[in-house]
Amino acid sequence: MEFLRPATWDEALAAKAGRPAALPLAGGTDVMVELNFDVRRPPALLDLNRVTELAEWSWDGAVVRLGAAVPYSRIIAELAGPLPGLALAARTVGSPQIRNRGGVGGNLGAASPAGDAHPALLAAGPDVLVEAASVRGTRLIPIDDFYTGVKRNSLAADELIRAVRIPVADGPQQFSKIGTRNAMVIAVCAFGFALHPRTRTVGTGIGSAAPTPRRAAEAEEYLREVLAERGLWESGELLDAEVVQRFGELVKAAAAPIDDVRGTADYRRHALAVMARRTLTWTWNDFRRQIGSAA
Ligand SMILES: Cc1cc2nc3c(=O)[nH]c(=O)nc-3n(C[C@H](O)[C@H](O)[C@H](O)COP(=O)(O)OP(=O)(O)OC[C@H]3O[C@@H](n4cnc5c(N)ncnc54)[C@H](O)[C@@H]3O)c2cc1C
Repeated sequence: MEFLRPATWDEALAAKAGRPAALPLAGGTDVMVELNFDVRRPPALLDLNRVTELAEWSWDGAVVRLGAAVPYSRIIAELAGPLPGLALAARTVGSPQIRNRGGVGGNLGAASPAGDAHPALLAAGPDVLVEAASVRGTRLIPIDDFYTGVKRNSLAADELIRAVRIPVADGPQQFSKIGTRNAMVIAVCAFGFALHPRTRTVGTGIGSAAPTPRRAAEAEEYLREVLAERGLWESGELLDAEVVQRFGELVKAAAAPIDDVRGTADYRRHALAVMARRTLTWTWNDFRRQIGSAA
């Protein structure tokens, strides 16, 4: 197996153009497992670890540009303020060792329906953009168009992920995950939720309960209408139990889970409804406190 080790981003893009079958290697926490278990035998590995800008992030006040290889441990330590949902999701990934190596670029590259970054990215809203680059140029892929199938994404063979652009949170965000134990666990199912007071919208993300990560579009629309029609963004009144219940049911209906070793489809649907109700309640209580309407 060939081992390509570019020193710069331009060299990395050139190497990928010349060898589209080369498998990118960032933290290696997915790639090395696949190699060790002989799940994959790529003709070449493209090690991105010398490309330092992939491990950097920046922000302009409105949007965080998160380098593909910024590890989860730094997202937790440095970005919990602007990206609270993603930081909460990052806390649940693997162990400290995995969080020190793995990052969002690798989660997107693997595109597993169980990847924990995905529900948080979806909930952050349709303006989340994956920056994909090749020697042909850079394109911005909306997060809703990124996941194309089980462990498949919309990257072309010669493209690499440079960064993810994520709007800075303008309201409370939450992430909830169910596993068969409390740590080092692949999600049985997961749910990300965000309130977006500036646009009077809400965001959702379902993980590990459909062939791809997906949003619960009807649930989002239902809640958007209820919050607007009842003037709740202004009043900050408590949500009626029936609204919370209906939201949970719509999230559950948006899932398309399977039975597998981690859980049954029925359990996943049930758990999603519970997580949706809880995360909505938590974020709404935070929002009420923020606008000073909580007792
Ligand atoms: C013990 C253990 C526990 C884990 N627990 C969790 C968990 O709780 N939650 C979770 O979501 N994941 C978990 N994982 C999976 C893994 O840690 C994550 O998916 C992580 O985000 C991968 O990041 P990485 O940088 O290590 O990616 P890598 O392994 O380097 O790459 C993963 C995939 O992305 C591609 N890739 C990497 N960088 C780029 C790029 N810049 N452009 C294009 N493609 C790229 C690679 O070619 C590969 O296909 C776990 C893994 C292990 C071994």
